[in-house]
Amino acid sequence: MTSTDLGRPNPRQTRQRAEIRHAVEALASFATAQEVHDRLRHEGSGVGLATVYRTLQAMAGGGELDSIRNPDGQIAYRTCSPGHHHHLICRTCGRTVEVTVPQLEQLVRGMASDHGFARIDHEVEFFGVCTTCATA
Ligand SMILES: [Zn+2]
Ligand SMILES: [Zn+2]
Ligand SMILES: [Zn+2]
Repeated sequence: MTSTDLGRPNPRQTRQRAEIRHAVEALASFATAQEVHDRLRHEGSGVGLATVYRTLQAMAGGGELDSIRNPDGQIAYRTCSPGHHHHLICRTCGRTVEVTVPQLEQLVRGMASDHGFARIDHEVEFFGVCTTCATA
């Protein structure tokens, strides 16, 4: 390895990352590393579970994926539109809707500035039951 290779992902890593990204996109709703790995295996990919864990973490850290902690306490991932938003997640089928809640943003800003805080970060997800599941 020469010094120019340092910090540059090798072709195998790049390919695995693309495979993992595709699997997350195909799953549409929030998926855990285990679920992403199951899907990859289904498609005949040989990417290991540890690699899936590590890659998903890195992608979420880099803002490529959204991550939440699901009701079971597991981290789940999803490809989302850029920009600040929240999620309405069906507890039964996992269907996910991106929502913006201007009133909430205003409330948070007001509450924070009352305490002299600025540049507030927050993660709020809403879990419920979607129409399809409610009528099933
Ligand atoms: Zn999102
Ligand atoms: Zn549902
Ligand atoms: Zn918000």
